[in-house]
Amino acid sequence: MSYRAPVRDMLFVMKELAGIDALAQLPGHEEAGYDTAAAVLEESARFNENVVAPLNQPGDTHPSVFHAGRVTTSPGFKEAFRQFVEGGWQGLQHPVEFGGQGLPKLIHAACAEMLNSANLSFALCPLLTDGAIEALLTAGSHAQQAACIPKMVDGSWTGSMNLTEPQAGSDLSLVRTRAEPQPDGTYKLFGTKIFITYGEHDMADNIVHLVLARVAGAPEGVKGISLFICPKVLADGTRNDVHCVSIEHKLGIRASPTAVLQYGDHGGAVGDLVGQENRGLEYMFVMMNAARYGVGIQGIALAERAYQHAVAYARERVQGRPVDGSLTRAAPIVHHPDVRRMLMRMRAHTEACRALAYVAAAAHDAAHAHADARVRQENQTFYEFLVPLVKGLCTEMALEVASLGVQVHGGMGFIEETGAAQYLRDAKILTIYEGTTAIQANDLVGRKTARDGGATARAIAARIAATVRELEAAGSAASGSMARRLDAGRQALVDVVEYVVREGKERPNAVYAGSVPYLMLAGTVVAGWQMARALLAAEARLAAGDEGAFMRAKVATARFYAEHILVEAPTWRERIVEGAESVTAFELEAF
Ligand SMILES: Cc1cc2nc3c(=O)[nH]c(=O)nc-3n(C[C@H](O)[C@H](O)[C@H](O)COP(=O)(O)OP(=O)(O)OC[C@H]3O[C@@H](n4cnc5c(N)ncnc54)[C@H](O)[C@@H]3O)c2cc1C
Repeated sequence: MSYRAPVRDMLFVMKELAGIDALAQLPGHEEAGYDTAAAVLEESARFNENVVAPLNQPGDTHPSVFHAGRVTTSPGFKEAFRQFVEGGWQGLQHPVEFGGQGLPKLIHAACAEMLNSANLSFALCPLLTDGAIEALLTAGSHAQQAACIPKMVDGSWTGSMNLTEPQAGSDLSLVRTRAEPQPDGTYKLFGTKIFITYGEHDMADNIVHLVLARVAGAPEGVKGISLFICPKVLADGTRNDVHCVSIEHKLGIRASPTAVLQYGDHGGAVGDLVGQENRGLEYMFVMMNAARYGVGIQGIALAERAYQHAVAYARERVQGRPVDGSLTRAAPIVHHPDVRRMLMRMRAHTEACRALAYVAAAAHDAAHAHADARVRQENQTFYEFLVPLVKGLCTEMALEVASLGVQVHGGMGFIEETGAAQYLRDAKILTIYEGTTAIQANDLVGRKTARDGGATARAIAARIAATVRELEAAGSAASGSMARRLDAGRQALVDVVEYVVREGKERPNAVYAGSVPYLMLAGTVVAGWQMARALLAAEARLAAGDEGAFMRAKVATARFYAEHILVEAPTWRERIVEGAESVTAFELEAF
């Protein structure tokens, strides 16, 4: 089943929910209005449907191969990557002065979604390069930016992110890679990094490894970690002392090479310090936040592809008579209410998460480009609150959607030929890398809620309350149903925010026992809020007499979200506020 980019829905979200027209009023984004977005998305859809998507299943069956220190990527990847960079896609959101196109993150988000729907394994390489560029834009010197960014934008170099070590996964304070200062101002790096995505490959001439390491004598813990640029090939053309010693065999994203990199086995890998010593983790957070957002987009992308696959199968597979007697013979399974329920759940989750992520992207754009410093700050705070939701919710939902996709296929989903199983296998990594769901939830509880005493969360709840009032005033059956569920969700969210703020210091175990449920609650309610806004916009367009089928589908999907997914919000609240005891009461020794 081939992929068809959901351009119509993407443009609807951009226009009605993320405010692309307002974005085009911001300084520097004058060219980035709806028409530009539509043209770019159409072009991106063509490229991804025709060039990248056909490589997805072959990449799964012919993964990257490691031999004698080199990695050969899956068939067709190298050629597709050339076309990708020559088409200007790597530079889409990056500054014009470095060869990019300077388009907003909002437009990039849609293009990244398409690329990831087409081929998650392939898309990881540009995703990490984007993160490396963003980190250098934030913390790199002018010389570092000038040396690396144009090359990464034009695809002659790619980026990689080197955090993880055998003993340092979620906990980066345990990083042991050593950096020794040299008389010429550079450093020599020694250590082992594991799980490095596209840490070695054959698609570009050079790889800019961004590496976390500890300078000799640095303080223990996170305060002693510095960030280094460590290129695979040095400026004089010689090979740096960083070598791939193996790549992993994996459950999913098999075409994406996951490398073990050995630094300094032959005298030390030359590294260039980024910013100041001991502030590496702070800089890396920029890259991680970009990458976390990007992984959330991967979730939406994967869910969309799994949904399309399931719909196609459900229309074809003939099995069982409809229970309402509408046909006297066996019918395509799409007639069965339970199959429709599964397809609706897949669709509603995907559309809601898309809306959540694109609204976050627009906030990011306003946080960077708005002329008013107060508005910039408000948008930055809003965006930062949304990042763990985008990463956590969109990836957990992708796993559920991919699993439903297999279920719709029945036994044919469990075997590999149909491709549905690949989506489920690929989906599982999304809840793990770039910080597991629990790590996102810790961020939400600690940095995003407790630190400001719940102020950001409360401000969002107030905006949701305003939408509830609009829904009540709209007066349709769908808006009434949505109003009730969204308001109940808002109340559940407010209760939990108060609980987190009140109990955080005294009963940390109780609060953190509910951290992932809090993330799921907040994500579901904020995504549901976007579906409520979509419902209002679609009803208004229908009332104005335009675009029947699409808008009717939007209203129906939003209503489903309210009645089947938002309704779960009060249950999440109960788990958090009432259920903490039963998480921690069980004695450790009894496991
Ligand atoms: C395919 C793949 C690609 C990857 N790509 C990269 C890459 O490019 N660069 C890179 O640096 N890394 C990469 N990683 C590493 C990845 O980011 C880590 O695997 C991830 O951060 C989790 O770390 P860990 O595997 O050590 O798990 P652990 O940290 O050991 O976690 C195990 C379990 O404990 C839980 N846990 C741990 N700490 C806490 C806590 N404080 N609170 C609550 N729960 C906790 C986790 O949620 C998880 O369920 C990749 C991994 C894989 C598998």
